[in-house]
Amino acid sequence: MKRILITGGAGFLGSHLCERLLGEGNDIICLDNFFTGDKNNIAHLMSLPNFELIRHDIINPIYLEVDEIYNLACPASPVHYQFNPIKTIKTNVMGVINVLGIAKRTKAKVLQASTSEIYGDPEVHPQNESYWGKVNPVGVRSCYDEGKRAAECLMMDYRRQNSVNTKIVRIFNTYGPRMAINDGRVVSNFIIQALRGKNITIYGDGAHTRSFCFVDDLVEGLIRMMNSADHFYGPVNIGNPAEFTIMQLAQLIIKLTESNSGIEFLPLPADDPVQRKPDITLAEEKIGWRPRIALEEGLAKTIQYFRDVLKKS
Ligand code: NAD
Ligand code: UDP
Repeated sequence: MKRILITGGAGFLGSHLCERLLGEGNDIICLDNFFTGDKNNIAHLMSLPNFELIRHDIINPIYLEVDEIYNLACPASPVHYQFNPIKTIKTNVMGVINVLGIAKRTKAKVLQASTSEIYGDPEVHPQNESYWGKVNPVGVRSCYDEGKRAAECLMMDYRRQNSVNTKIVRIFNTYGPRMAINDGRVVSNFIIQALRGKNITIYGDGAHTRSFCFVDDLVEGLIRMMNSADHFYGPVNIGNPAEFTIMQLAQLIIKLTESNSGIEFLPLPADDPVQRKPDITLAEEKIGWRPRIALEEGLAKTIQYFRDVLKKS
């Protein structure tokens, strides 16, 4: 049994990771400041003897004794990370320094939830880990993109300077049950709009692309990376290489929900990447990981989740 700290553990991805690692018999400390997380995501875990919840903001130091850390604390939706951009970059710099401080003191292994946003609006397609990216350093997405780049830098410098056992995973767009109703990311927005019979809001003309990974596949990738050989520390892309235009996504969600929703075109937000698709060769070779769940199957599960949530609300 390992003592595992999951920061951002009450969020969308974090709650699934808590559940999975508890199921494998570990002791879990879930740390969250509830900015975008929700107690409902972990309510079913609260009574378990090997689960502990701490309300804490990682920009402040904290002393815990653990064997492994998954650092997921950071708002992930553009709407939320741009709400208080200074806080977002503080979370990714001061927060990551605090997390690395725990890892250094306790000799815990630490995995950083990085992002495909590291690649910005990419000129290389699909994106592989050796591509350095094209990020606007002064735009509205910079608090997140540059924050996450600084976090990767910190991971690597603590590894080189302090011998901390670090791992970096670059997560590509992931969706599934427990995304918040007000999350603002494309999959949850479109499903909720379709279920409510509201117009589907496509930003831009819908020709830009994303590649969508179901949460269970992503969690498997994070755990495999944490358990990989010490000499493989990444960064490694984890995402589903099946690429869709935003228009195709909208049409698929309308079909699966049997909705009468129309489509409304709104302006494309600044610096919105035109294309995104992971090259997962490295993950396949080094940790034997590739996604198993196709978009249609994952969307069906996510639609069912939102049907239940909307019925209750
Ligand atoms: P989320 O917003 O649902 O979860 C983030 C969690 O972190 C929330 O519970 C939030 O309350 C918590 N948090 C935020 N700031 C904090 C702070 N300062 N101190 C403590 N807790 C804090 O988002 P998610 O989709 O679950 O993303 C989890 C992680 O994965 C994030 O680091 C995100 O950048 C990364 N990621 C996610 C995706 C994706 O598609 N879901 C893609 C790339 C990277
Ligand atoms: N998007 C959209 N309508 C929405 C929400 C998002 O067309 O209601 C688009 C957004 O402009 C982007 C893509 O969908 O091109 C993915 O957006 P999301 O916020 O999910 O994540 P991103 O990959 O941009 O971080």
